[in-house]
Amino acid sequence: LWALDQCAGITVVQDPSDAAFPDMPLNALNRLRPDHMVTLAAMPRLLSSLVTQPAGEAVKAPESIRFEVEIAKGSVAEMDEMDGLGRRSVLACPTCHGVMWEIDEGPLTRFRCHVGHTFAAEHLSLSLDENLRRAMGSALRALEERLELARKLERDAEGKDQPHLAASWGKRASEYERELSVIRSAVSRMDEIDRGEDDYKAAE
Ligand SMILES: [Zn+2]
Repeated sequence: LWALDQCAGITVVQDPSDAAFPDMPLNALNRLRPDHMVTLAAMPRLLSSLVTQPAGEAVKAPESIRFEVEIAKGSVAEMDEMDGLGRRSVLACPTCHGVMWEIDEGPLTRFRCHVGHTFAAEHLSLSLDENLRRAMGSALRALEERLELARKLERDAEGKDQPHLAASWGKRASEYERELSVIRSAVSRMDEIDRGEDDYKAAE
C-alpha cells in the first residue's frame, strides 16, 4: 500500500472500527494517510466509482521501488546497489543469514536481504525469536546428551573402582547441570516475555 501511495496510486483502507481484524487497517493507517477510509459495506460503491474516473497523470515510480520490483522478479541485487537503497544492518537475515539492509519507508523501517527476503521490524523480531528458541533448544539437547554421557562414565568408573576418574566425570556432569539450568531459566524467561506481550496486545 505504501509503495502504491509512493507511485501516486489511490489508496483505500477499511475503517478499523468496522474490521473483523482491525490490525491490518490500523497498520496501514500508521504508515500513511489513505485517500479514502470506508466501511466494508461502502467499499463496493467507492471502488466502482473510482474505476470509472479518468486515470491521473502517470507518475514515475521512485527508483527504490522499481529496483525492489526487479529483485522480486528474481534478479539478485549487487551489494553496492543495495547500499543505494538503505543502510547495512548489523542484523543478519533470519531466513538465509545473509547481510540485511534497513530501508526507511516514511515513519517505519523495513529490512531486506540481497536475496529478497523482506521483513517489517515487528515480523523480524518474531523471526529472530524463533531462531533464538531453536538455538536454545539445540543447546539444551546437546547439553542433556553430554550430561547423560558424563553420568554414565561416572557410574562406569565407580563400577571399575576408579574413584578419581569417577569424581572427574561427576564434576563435569555437575557443570553441565548448572549450564542446563541457566538455559532452561532463559527459555522460561522468554516465555514470560511472550506472555507479557500477548497480554499487552490483548489490552490494546
Ligand atoms: Zn535472506
